[in-house]
Amino acid sequence: MKIPEPELPLTARCLCGGVRWAVHEPLESCWYCHCTRCQHRTGTASSVGARIAPGSFELLAGEELIREWAPPDGHVKCFCAECGGQLWSRDPVDPETRSIRLGTFDGDPGIRPSGHQFTDFAPAWEPLPDDGLPRWGGRAPAGAGPSR
Ligand SMILES: [Zn+2]
Ligand SMILES: [Zn+2]
Repeated sequence: MKIPEPELPLTARCLCGGVRWAVHEPLESCWYCHCTRCQHRTGTASSVGARIAPGSFELLAGEELIREWAPPDGHVKCFCAECGGQLWSRDPVDPETRSIRLGTFDGDPGIRPSGHQFTDFAPAWEPLPDDGLPRWGGRAPAGAGPSR
């Protein structure tokens, strides 16, 4: 399946539109995550995030609306204070390492999920899709770049 070449920059926003940003380089990797943290964060069965190239992120509006929740381990979760929309996760030390929630993009982000991680934790009420993608019961191998 040929993925349409996206027009850069990619643009994205939260639900209310208060937080808007642009990504100036193609997205690097993209994964489904079925971990319980993603379930509680989103209220859904899984989450899809796309790793961006370092230095490709530009915040356009809404810095004052961005709230962060930093778990004791793993990446910092960022969301909009006005609408509660999930924005991205970022490395607690290096904010350039960032995974954008794929549903926030305005158009086709030009990437497709390449696997499923933490499938051992997938809820019973939503069967994993029969999509032929690789699956890992726990975290995908290092360097694969999934959202956490
Ligand atoms: Zn918002
Ligand atoms: Zn997860």
